[in-house]
Amino acid sequence: MEANGPELRRDRLAGRWVIVAPERLGRPIDFHPVVHAARPSSSRTCPLCPGHEKHTPPESFALRPRRSAPDGPGWRVRAIPNKFPALGREDRGAMGHAGLPFPSLPGIGAHEVVVDTPEHGREWADLPLGQVRAVLEVYRHRMAALGQAVPVRFIQLFKNKGREAGASLSHSHSQIIAMPVVPDDAAREAARAKREMVRTGRCPYCLMIEEEKKAGSRLIALDRHFAAFVPFAARFPYETRIVPLRHAAEFRTASDEELAALAGTALKVLTRMKERLGDPPYNIVLRQAPLVRSAAFHWSLDILPVLTHIAGFELGTGMFINPVRPEASARELRR
Ligand SMILES: [Zn+2]
Ligand SMILES: [Zn+2]
Repeated sequence: MEANGPELRRDRLAGRWVIVAPERLGRPIDFHPVVHAARPSSSRTCPLCPGHEKHTPPESFALRPRRSAPDGPGWRVRAIPNKFPALGREDRGAMGHAGLPFPSLPGIGAHEVVVDTPEHGREWADLPLGQVRAVLEVYRHRMAALGQAVPVRFIQLFKNKGREAGASLSHSHSQIIAMPVVPDDAAREAARAKREMVRTGRCPYCLMIEEEKKAGSRLIALDRHFAAFVPFAARFPYETRIVPLRHAAEFRTASDEELAALAGTALKVLTRMKERLGDPPYNIVLRQAPLVRSAAFHWSLDILPVLTHIAGFELGTGMFINPVRPEASARELRR
């Protein structure tokens, strides 16, 4: 029997407390899903569909047959600058001054969109493995390319699937933001991991993976290259982390073989989420180390179904209340 009372768990590397409170919900199986109204979405007006390439800025990269011209149809995966970027390539004269108490910098960086498939209306769980692997190859290419730019110190790749997860276009796509600052959370986690490595002589992520393998209760999938598990202090029901067994801080170092394995594991998890959780909206977050040499870090692909809301408690405390025990989430996704 599992205890059912509330429990405070700490993610030591993230430096975050989570309240696991299963009594706030019935059994996990009752957790059925956000209901989606079928939303009209048409490939006729979609700027990301093939044939509409002129509606987007010129592509920065695409997987397409050798003789097909850029910015026309024929591509398998297409990367384009975001037409409405959060950060731009040039300093357009925004106020930038470093004075206290209001430090500010010009918003220089990059914001790209990766169109995951030419097929409107198909999500990752509907795509063949080769297509997801192709998307991951484009991620690797773009993250390596954007990381070369001088002021870039951090790159965040993410995917929002469904309006409740923050998507504004229904055509399956991902986004990459390259920025001149390191987010505080990432900086602190890298620093904690480094301290831990110095203190114990071991990579804390390698140690965590070892412990997850040994315990097995939060493990969802395991192969030669990746472990997929629900983190001990998961913030959300069914939150899943896919982490390379190889000690690798940055995604751009992933091998072709690793990308193929990652595509397989990600599809396995997403297919189960679709079947068992009623096709929920979700976010994918590719976590990696800040682009300064971080010896003690493993990048990871995190899949976060959107089944709960971030509300006042979370905004006030930076803590989360997870109504499904991570072990119960893993059990549901493992079977
Ligand atoms: Zn479309
Ligand atoms: Zn390691």
